[in-house]
Amino acid sequence: MLSAEIIAIGSELLTPFKTDTNSLWLTEKLNEIGIEVKLKTVVGDDEARLEETVRDAIKRSDIVITTGGLGPTEDDITRKITAKALDKDLIFKQKLLDDLRERFKSFGYEMPEKNRSQAYIIDGSEVLPNPRGSAVGMLSDLSEKYLVVLPGPPRELKPMFEKYVLPKLKESAGDIVVLRRSLRVSGMGESSLDELIAPIYTKYKNPQTATLFNKTEIEIQLTAQGNTKEEAESLLDELANKIADKLGMAVFAKKGEKMEEVIGRILIEKNKTLSVAESCTGGLIGERLTEVSGSSKYFIEGSVTYHNDAKIRNLSVPKDVIENHGAVSGEVAEAMALGMRKKAETDYAISVTGIAGPTGGTEEKPVGTVFIGYSDEEETKSIKLNLPGDRYLIRWRSSQAALDYLRRNILKKEDD
Ligand code: ATP
Repeated sequence: MLSAEIIAIGSELLTPFKTDTNSLWLTEKLNEIGIEVKLKTVVGDDEARLEETVRDAIKRSDIVITTGGLGPTEDDITRKITAKALDKDLIFKQKLLDDLRERFKSFGYEMPEKNRSQAYIIDGSEVLPNPRGSAVGMLSDLSEKYLVVLPGPPRELKPMFEKYVLPKLKESAGDIVVLRRSLRVSGMGESSLDELIAPIYTKYKNPQTATLFNKTEIEIQLTAQGNTKEEAESLLDELANKIADKLGMAVFAKKGEKMEEVIGRILIEKNKTLSVAESCTGGLIGERLTEVSGSSKYFIEGSVTYHNDAKIRNLSVPKDVIENHGAVSGEVAEAMALGMRKKAETDYAISVTGIAGPTGGTEEKPVGTVFIGYSDEEETKSIKLNLPGDRYLIRWRSSQAALDYLRRNILKKEDD
């Protein structure tokens, strides 16, 4: 597999105000044709550092792509420094200068002499035309290696890369197919998960495995390469199945689906309906469920009962249960789920009541204390969670835990 390296050039990319998005886009395009990005660097308009970076990059990577710094101003140093790093000269191209003058003329301007610098290219490189800007790109074939020099503005870089660079790189990369698959896991910490699955995935070099922790779940990302799509798929199947077997119920999605999509699929399969009573999540569960197209088939109703009065009025939560146990309690979560299920006449109902913070916590019930209620025809029950994070994360994690509690209960019934 060919290795690539991307160098984003420009001091503005080292400020807090500008993000290097070019490299994300380029990485996606390179991955699609089976080229792996091994390193990314952001370099300011600093000649010595840029020269060193480009020299090192060419030594270690098959394909080096630079973006930015091709403008006509003093701080646009890419042209000069990439040539220097390759120990090559910059060659003046009359045709490029004529084109530049023509371009300015078409906008009704005289070309400023500063732009003359854009008519120089690295000796021996191929010119990559730029219909959307004044800076042409360059592709240097360094026998077995490539240096590709692209302009910074994404709207200039993207068509140039797709039209002139991608076909060439695809040819060098050969017929490699790269496929990715994500398994999503809930209700487990990253280290305990890794303890279980590291002995499995470390045996495989292909697929490669990466685990990422996001706000509500762990994602296990598998990347496989094969000579055909089928070969890559079967490599993914083998490892994905081994990992899923080991983790059991904790894996809620084997092909990257979101929790709300999984819930939708299960409810449709079983022809069952759901309602939701929310307090601290403020409608987030309803919002997530209804993001899935076709959710009206199974999601009947949601109620945001934030104030105690609303819990009593809308869900028939007994007043004394709130008084005796507090609004954030297992008893209230259960009464909410039961009241919701009866009112909406659904097969299942879930509920959430908790303290999302930052205020409202007590010693007995600190911020992050959340109760999830569940009710079906046979039983009504609840769990208590102590969730870490700020208000945003606690609300998201509560919504995920509630949907997961529902999922586990439905699937458990299936096993019994
Ligand atoms: P031109 O002369 O056509 O403007 P250039 O190669 O000199 O091209 P730069 O001056 O480095 O490009 O950058 C121009 C603009 O392109 C920047 O202001 C920024 O908005 C955008 N840009 C540059 N690099 C990146 C990057 N890595 N990711 C996203 N945007 C970028």
